[in-house]
Amino acid sequence: QEKILQVHELKKYFNMGKGSVLQAVDGVSFHVNKGETFGLVGESGCGKSTIGRTIMGLYDKTDGDVLFDGKNVHELNEKERFHFYRSMQMIFQDPYASLNPRSTVKEVISEPMEVHGLYKNKREQLDRVYQLLEEVGLNRDHANRYPHEFSGGQRQRIGIARALALNPNFIIADEPISALDVSVQAQVVNLLKELQVEKGLTFLFIAHDLSMVKQISDRIGVMYLGNMVELTASEELYENPLHPYTQALLSAIPIPDPDIEETRERIILQGELPSPINPPSGCVFRTRCPMAMEVCSMKKPVWQEVGQNHYVACHLYDDTLENKDLTKQLTR
Ligand code: SF4
Ligand code: MG
Repeated sequence: QEKILQVHELKKYFNMGKGSVLQAVDGVSFHVNKGETFGLVGESGCGKSTIGRTIMGLYDKTDGDVLFDGKNVHELNEKERFHFYRSMQMIFQDPYASLNPRSTVKEVISEPMEVHGLYKNKREQLDRVYQLLEEVGLNRDHANRYPHEFSGGQRQRIGIARALALNPNFIIADEPISALDVSVQAQVVNLLKELQVEKGLTFLFIAHDLSMVKQISDRIGVMYLGNMVELTASEELYENPLHPYTQALLSAIPIPDPDIEETRERIILQGELPSPINPPSGCVFRTRCPMAMEVCSMKKPVWQEVGQNHYVACHLYDDTLENKDLTKQLTR
């Protein structure tokens, strides 16, 4: 399998002034295989959007490396960067905010083509716009209308058409369905899946809960407060979640069967999400972890492979930890 994207020990800190630093992404590593969908999941503020933007080169990195097609995205020259944007595009959560309200759908979709000078001939460009509209389930009659005339789901389709305008092979979808009605979410997910098969696209799919990501992703990485805490294949994550945070996230997904739903144990996390400006020492999850031990406040758990292609950062799975005192369960 070809690793189209490799993220090594990526750190992205933001200087907040007066000496405080927001550790948005604090040493995250993963890769994305060509043609797969990699789901990046975690609550808002965990750093997942920052990772997306740093991969796109919209943010400088603080440390670590991002390689796309073997090339370091933060070391591209102007020409390489221009070319890079044809390969990698982004879809955003709120399609309305990302579409210029004063531009017609035609203008919104043709803009990237014009910037990149794809077509010399206006007619060809317009035909391409029509083709893209059809590919996302809209039609040419929509071309001269304005984004606000469309429903949320349709606007997301326009956003997708725009992202496809340059024929990218990698798409970062940052919560593309979070703002949509549940009934519309499945339609957009299905569209993305169809486009993936037709065009051989690779997706980095960012989401704040696991419910939809399960269906669309081949592998999933779970993030908490700037750290990746678990990563494995989709089915494995659902059948055998190891990290206490993943277990809590999974327990929060409603199950359609009322009998199971009633008897199921829900893991309620205590306390608030700490600030990434002053994250907890040791394991960042320890202030809310039902399994927290003495060691958790002293040592940051290492990122390790505990099963085949199953990675986790948690002292519960650290065999080298022999000090019984340190593994004493904290009472809360
Ligand atoms: Fe919980 Fe400790 Fe594991 Fe962190 S390292 S998830 S606090 S048990
Ligand atoms: Mg976000």
